[in-house]
Amino acid sequence: MKKIQMVDLTSQYEKIRNEVNAGIQEVIDTTTFIKGGKVNDFQADLEKYLEVKHVIPVGNGTDALQIALMALGLKPGDEVITPTFTFIATAEVVALLGLTPVVVDVDFDTFNINLDSLRKAITPKTKAIVPVHLFGQNADMEEILKIAKEHNLFVVEDACQSIGSVYTFSDGRKVHSGCMGEIGCTSFFPSKNLGCFGDGGAIFTNNDELAAKMRAIANHGMVVRYYHDVVGVNSRLDSIQAAVLQVKLRSLNDYIAARQHAAAYYNAVFSTTDKLIIPAENENSTHVFHQYTLKLNGVDRAALIKHLNDKGIPAMVYYPVPLHLQKAYQDARYKAGDFPVAEKLSNCVMSLPMHTELSEEQLKYITEAVMEAI
Ligand SMILES: *Cc1c(COP(=O)(O)O)cnc(C)c1O
Repeated sequence: MKKIQMVDLTSQYEKIRNEVNAGIQEVIDTTTFIKGGKVNDFQADLEKYLEVKHVIPVGNGTDALQIALMALGLKPGDEVITPTFTFIATAEVVALLGLTPVVVDVDFDTFNINLDSLRKAITPKTKAIVPVHLFGQNADMEEILKIAKEHNLFVVEDACQSIGSVYTFSDGRKVHSGCMGEIGCTSFFPSKNLGCFGDGGAIFTNNDELAAKMRAIANHGMVVRYYHDVVGVNSRLDSIQAAVLQVKLRSLNDYIAARQHAAAYYNAVFSTTDKLIIPAENENSTHVFHQYTLKLNGVDRAALIKHLNDKGIPAMVYYPVPLHLQKAYQDARYKAGDFPVAEKLSNCVMSLPMHTELSEEQLKYITEAVMEAI
């Protein structure tokens, strides 16, 4: 049996090696390393896949979030709401821009932003909501968009873990993750569902004006060469990464199906015990399983992880500390106990290997090892 990894990029690469290598070689041969044809081609392919008007390729997912917030013209002191149970990037860019991060609790079932907590956090200073579609499942966007409209707030989706996931509105409309709010952001970090061979990211929007502004911000605030209209940054997807992504985008739906297959295998086994709570799947969103995350119920997490590690199975805790308890984000407004669901989750979640190359043999081995330990 192949070595089990959280993410197996080697086996995935083996299957597309020739196409990927040819794409990279083409970039080298034409020396169009920055803003080359490959970036434009990938952008067009992704716009088509997502059915969104504008894809703006950038340097990484964190930059995507930063550029999105810069484009909204927010001022220091403006409040931006984001869930406390997530990766740090969202709160980080809010803080870096001098905006005020306001964190809210999440739902125990879905790990996504809790609507009551969100409603309670809105003040006259609130300007934007950044929902995170955690682990690959969309947050309750229909309600979030309603709340945003009611209070005149921008919605910037963090779709770094959810590319390819589809949300169905109550009128039957199906929209891709990241394409529902004013702006959506994604990451092409190698282990993400659509990952490149380094750093990469993209911004999505259907708004022409915001698209033009974000394109300029990502390129030194420049529209006409050497004329700078706004303060910008330097954040570009390079052509080699675009060449890789162009090839991998063609397989994205197959990659998603492989992840869903592995999740279904895990679910079938783990739903037979009440010591494990399998990931909840919402009716109105597909789940693309960036992570397969269990909630442990009366199981010693450290002991279970050690047992798995001893058998050659990696297991991770995403995320062990909610934002409001992180050292860098200590704030007089927040203390331990303020967000009980997020705090409980950080103590009971455990993510198992999840990628596109898990074999039946590996899935059997992993599930048996978990079941014998609990
Ligand atoms: C990965 C990730 C990011 C940041 O993406 P980078 O490309 O690593 O900068 C932001 N938010 C979430 C939820 C992520 O998972």
